[in-house]
Amino acid sequence: MEVLIERNRGFAAAFDQGDLPIPPAERLAILTCMDARVDPLRAFGLRLGDAHMIRNAGGRASDDALRSLIISANLLQVRSVAVVHHTDCGMQTFTDEALRTRLAEELGVDASGLRFLPFSDLEESVREDVRRIRSSPFLPPDLVVGGFVYDVRSGLLREVPSA
Ligand SMILES: [Zn+2]
Repeated sequence: MEVLIERNRGFAAAFDQGDLPIPPAERLAILTCMDARVDPLRAFGLRLGDAHMIRNAGGRASDDALRSLIISANLLQVRSVAVVHHTDCGMQTFTDEALRTRLAEELGVDASGLRFLPFSDLEESVREDVRRIRSSPFLPPDLVVGGFVYDVRSGLLREVPSA
């Protein structure tokens, strides 16, 4: 992984944004998938320092994603959260049971206590995560939470209406 250090030298040589404040300028947090095809800064017209990026497999509102949002909204001035799932997501390609079986077979481990949060219905997964964030008692009641789907083929973002 030495290549990361090498490439960073070039980046750091031209870097001139070392004085940004901690709270994100747009008071925004984006919860999205770790998928390598999703580049939230470029896709949503954001710059360094504009928004918190919370990423995990699927962009799910997991306990750990909520941990980050609680800190964003209560300590770091975030006022709105965009939940962004995407088309062709790897989370639609397996089930908890299938992954548990694979882990048992390949690693000899019991993963029955782990939930991986895969989904089959893309829009419903967005609505479910928006609901989970909105219903957290640890987030301000006036926090704005929106749901979106990003299309990895067209690059287009569309809103998912709350049902
Ligand atoms: Zn994904």
